[in-house]
Amino acid sequence: MSWEDNVRKVIPYVPGEQPTGRVIKLNTNENPYPPSPKVAEVLSHYDTDDLRLYPDVHGGELRDKLSEVYGVDKEKIFVGVGSDDVLAVAFMTFFNGRTPIIFPDVTYSFYDVWAELYNIPYMTIPLDDDFRIKKDDYLRTNGGIVIPNPNAPTGCEKSVEDLEYIISNNPDSIVIIDEAYVDFGARSVLPLIDKYDNLLVVQTFSKSFCMAGARIGMAFGNKKLIKYMNDVKFSINSYTMNRLTVAAGVAVLEDMDYLKEVRGKVIATRERMKKELTALGFTFPDSKSNFIFASHNEIAAADIFKAAKQAGIYVRWWDKRRISDHLRISIGTDEEMDAFIAFLKEFINGYL
Ligand SMILES: *Cc1c(COP(=O)(O)O)cnc(C)c1O
Repeated sequence: MSWEDNVRKVIPYVPGEQPTGRVIKLNTNENPYPPSPKVAEVLSHYDTDDLRLYPDVHGGELRDKLSEVYGVDKEKIFVGVGSDDVLAVAFMTFFNGRTPIIFPDVTYSFYDVWAELYNIPYMTIPLDDDFRIKKDDYLRTNGGIVIPNPNAPTGCEKSVEDLEYIISNNPDSIVIIDEAYVDFGARSVLPLIDKYDNLLVVQTFSKSFCMAGARIGMAFGNKKLIKYMNDVKFSINSYTMNRLTVAAGVAVLEDMDYLKEVRGKVIATRERMKKELTALGFTFPDSKSNFIFASHNEIAAADIFKAAKQAGIYVRWWDKRRISDHLRISIGTDEEMDAFIAFLKEFINGYL
């Protein structure tokens, strides 16, 4: 008997690499643009005496500001340390049945990690051959449902009508819609939280808010759902939202015009990239996110991935069933994308 027999052994989620130095980073779906200048202003004038005190347990002014901007009662909002934290709390809170929870087979690779961690039985539902979610597949018996919209890493949007069909036909299951990428042109199910008491909508500051480094995520749902999540959170760590992050998050929300402009730029670059990639022989499902999930019609994704990395351009590739011939390419600035396209042209020419 050794202490090691008592260790909780898990296979963790593997995040994309964070290389240091001068590389072009198109591998973790971060926003290529800095947050609003208001963030720098607020942080440079921050009264550090405040740091003596514990922060508000609910995210204080950040939750107030979210309530104002989204027009949602603050008791229907939960804030956490990135949406990964919010999702982890939601899994722990809502998925305690014996019937497997369900989510797509090709999706955010953290869901099965949390399910394993919390001993939640789960089953994956295959996307169709075009990487689409088939709504009728989600009418089977289940202990809960998780669907990202747009889905990751495919970028495909599911319509609000189809999602409502799934939510309304599963009144006895919590349905989590993970809207990490919704601000890049998809429609949100947020307006449905008062209509369905089983709906939890999760969003994040990491992608469309240019703030992955600040770690802010939020969930919207009816008061009862949020209360249950808070009970779990207060049983682990009450003070998740530190004062500096709260101040920075409020500053971001005070400059929604800036966010609209940045999102518009990312969307414009994405649409241009769709044309460029098509011209180079790539195919991909239509993306409504800040990445494109592309496959080349002649060259293996692994080869492009390795050569790009050698050229200092990081994209994401998974050696996994169904998706190993695809690259997930985050949308960077126009200059970064031009450099990637130039690399591809040269690589493809030399290869074929
Ligand atoms: C990026 C991402 C998240 C988590 O982001 P946080 O940085 O933790 O807010 C959650 N879900 C999906 C689908 C994502 O792609």
